[in-house]
Amino acid sequence: MKSEVRKAVAETISRYLTEYCEANGTEPLWGEPLVGFADAHDPRFAQLKELVQDSHYLPEDILPGATVVVSYFLPFNKDIAHSNISGELASPEWAFAYMATNDASIGLGEAVCETVRGFGFDAESPKDIKRTEGTIVSRWSQRHIAYIAGLGSFGMNNMLITEKGCCGRFYSVVTALDIEPDQPIDWDNCPYKSHGRCGACMSKCRSGALRPEGFDRHACDKLCNENSHRYNGISVCGKCIVGMPCSFRNPRVI
Ligand code: SF4
Ligand code: SF4
Repeated sequence: MKSEVRKAVAETISRYLTEYCEANGTEPLWGEPLVGFADAHDPRFAQLKELVQDSHYLPEDILPGATVVVSYFLPFNKDIAHSNISGELASPEWAFAYMATNDASIGLGEAVCETVRGFGFDAESPKDIKRTEGTIVSRWSQRHIAYIAGLGSFGMNNMLITEKGCCGRFYSVVTALDIEPDQPIDWDNCPYKSHGRCGACMSKCRSGALRPEGFDRHACDKLCNENSHRYNGISVCGKCIVGMPCSFRNPRVI
């Protein structure tokens, strides 16, 4: 059943996003998704209360009796990524795609839940997961959840590098699916982390947020706010995930 659920969820996502673009008269904004299954009882969820913030949710907070968190990656269309390579500020196309993804993600989460329910299992979309007051982190870190779901590993750009790269967005729903979850990978897809090679994202970031010793969330946030003034509150940048060797593929060095 696991492969059937994965296929059905991927098909739901593709169909929903195609219809979203048609209904809104936009070019296709996303490529084919990736879908992973995180064990809702994985102890790494509890660790997110320390790693991200102490009010980070557990799957059980979203759906009592949770077993599996379905995580999915929506890669951006390559043209959108290319539009954002040059210039200091985010491109209008990038900001638009970001906003459209936020908009589509709500209905998409419900559509994924419906697909899971169609298999006879409960499912809930996480809600109220935006930054809490006084913090710049979410109560439901989609990238960490995607990591637990085995979709990839963190790169030096603080994004999760999947088999389809890192240039896209992650979302998830919490379910009571009775399937074997996927396992997190135990290697680094980022060649800087594994072999000290690359580092292109650190060279590109003009905020100084990306350094060998770690990610400075506040520096990144400050720069994203510059774009927010330009793009009506849409806090974006993304220069470190476009035009990179990890943008649309896994650059892992073995
Ligand atoms: S640009 Fe290079 S160093 Fe940065 S995350 Fe991608 S692969 Fe790693
Ligand atoms: S999003 Fe922009 S500011 Fe933030 S780390 Fe990437 S390049 Fe730097």
